[in-house]
Amino acid sequence: MRLSRLLFVTLRDEPSDAEVRSHALMARAGFLHKLAAGIYVYGPMMWRVLRRVENIVREEHDRVGCQELLMPALQPRELWEESGRWDRYKSEGILFNFRDRKGSEVCLGPTHEEVITTFVKRQVQSYKQLPVTLYQIQTKFRDEIRPRFGLMRGREFIMKDAYSFDVSEEAMAGSYATMREVYRNIFSRCGLGFTPVEADSGAIGGCGSEEFMVDAETGEDGIAVCRATGYAANLEKAVSKIPAAAECAEDVAMHKEATPDARSCNALLELFPNLSLTRMLKTVLYSVTYADGTEGVVAVLCRGDRELNETKLLNFLDALQLDLANETTVKAATGAEVGFAGPIGLADNVRLIADSSVNGVKGFLCGGNETDMHYLDVHFGRDLEQPETSDFGTVQAGDTVVEGEGEIEITRGIEVGHIFQLGTKYSEAMQANFSDENQKTKPMWMGCYGIGVSRVAASAIEQNHDDSGMIWPLPIAPYAVHLIQMKTGNEEQDALALEIHDQLEAAGVDVLWDERKKVNPGVKFKDADLVGIPIRIVVGRDAADRGVEYSLRSNTEGKEGITADEAMKRALELVKEAGR
Ligand code: ATP
Ligand code: MG
Repeated sequence: MRLSRLLFVTLRDEPSDAEVRSHALMARAGFLHKLAAGIYVYGPMMWRVLRRVENIVREEHDRVGCQELLMPALQPRELWEESGRWDRYKSEGILFNFRDRKGSEVCLGPTHEEVITTFVKRQVQSYKQLPVTLYQIQTKFRDEIRPRFGLMRGREFIMKDAYSFDVSEEAMAGSYATMREVYRNIFSRCGLGFTPVEADSGAIGGCGSEEFMVDAETGEDGIAVCRATGYAANLEKAVSKIPAAAECAEDVAMHKEATPDARSCNALLELFPNLSLTRMLKTVLYSVTYADGTEGVVAVLCRGDRELNETKLLNFLDALQLDLANETTVKAATGAEVGFAGPIGLADNVRLIADSSVNGVKGFLCGGNETDMHYLDVHFGRDLEQPETSDFGTVQAGDTVVEGEGEIEITRGIEVGHIFQLGTKYSEAMQANFSDENQKTKPMWMGCYGIGVSRVAASAIEQNHDDSGMIWPLPIAPYAVHLIQMKTGNEEQDALALEIHDQLEAAGVDVLWDERKKVNPGVKFKDADLVGIPIRIVVGRDAADRGVEYSLRSNTEGKEGITADEAMKRALELVKEAGR
């Protein structure tokens, strides 16, 4: 491709809303054009990258016998009522939905479990037709609360979603294991550094899931990892053994302490310097909307040095939504100003539960449900009953893994893929049944598997860039070779560059040839650094002797003067190696 014929417009400035490098660089290089929040035009170069990612995704799915299809983006509300997910998705605000001319409600698909289950239940009757795994690559729509980071969190984005259907739980686990390998292969082939982690299943539901995280400091997800044992889990899901609470030496009766204006554990620590945070219990109040539509207030106890985990709470409560209680609610529940809530003497309609970090804490300090007052030397069993307790805590760096020996570190990642064992959640709700060898009717066992195709492309740049621009991994780069011609119109250079372009193209290597006339070499190099095509061949002074300068975008310092033929040979080898 001749660069002079490409619609190639770069911006001098980065967009003001670009918070991460991938977004800033892609926008500056004209790969992306923002139409509205979370809605982008993919420019020609971007589309080439996305097609590359899609092709890798296709090849790896097809290799294990998955079949591609295409489902509609428009989905009728009735399907979502059948699965029971309409209310949850509506209350999360994720659904783009509207009425058609007849007044029927439809949504733009954020995911396709309902559609695929409907399709498969009409197609499959017998165990002889199973197993089957179907996938599509399609635009998804989600009205994200905070669309940001460019392609990382769009409101319209490209996803590959696959769904497996099996006759039994074991068979489902087999399909899931196969897809796990498919995912590993896809992300490796895309040239990404990634970590598979245990994950929360969220609104999709089911009985087990893993996410594939691209290692990146700017990632929105926190991950707990233990190098010693290999444990890795999303913080939404991670568990740990936590350090023991400080001992309570004396057996003192519970009593009230005046704590003027001490509304946080740290303020209390100043008042009670001998008391560790581990002997304080915070009481956090939430306004909850339950899955059945009812509402209530929940108070959650947690040790002073630990943080609550709202995903775990949401799951435990089977809630649609969880918000920190506002001032009015806190006052009604505690009779006190915000900052003095405690487990003793809460209003009757408040449900009290506790995080497992409270286990074994003795003689603790907690809110007094009276402004400027706390209770001290409180014991469960003696002064109040320990409320229902479960794990609602967030794992912290330095905790110990539950199984084996090892310390946990917290890192960050970008979720590029998520795989789920769904079980029979959707097949039972939507009657997707088959008849087994004995003509017995049974629900199908399902799995579902998503990859954010556009997010994969963005995370490749989040992982691979420098101050001058993007550095595309060869397998998904928009072009394999950036051919820079120093002086267009010079006979020898014209001839050699044309030859390299044509020969490489004929060998299946795609080349972007910068033969722009009135553009000086400095600008050409700057542009090449920005767009980040991995292999660079420069045709200049030595063209008469078939000499070129060869380098890789990942190491622009390492330039070598070699012959055009050697440069082409090397490029061809690298391209083959990358499976491009
Ligand atoms: P997140 O937690 O980041 O919101 P999710 O868990 O809701 O994502 P899934 O339903 O698991 O997403 O979707 C499958 C994949 O689609 C994700 O792993 C991610 O790569 C991609 N994805 C999800 N939401 C977006 C989005 N708004 N923009 C781009 N890609 C997305
Ligand atoms: Mg997910």
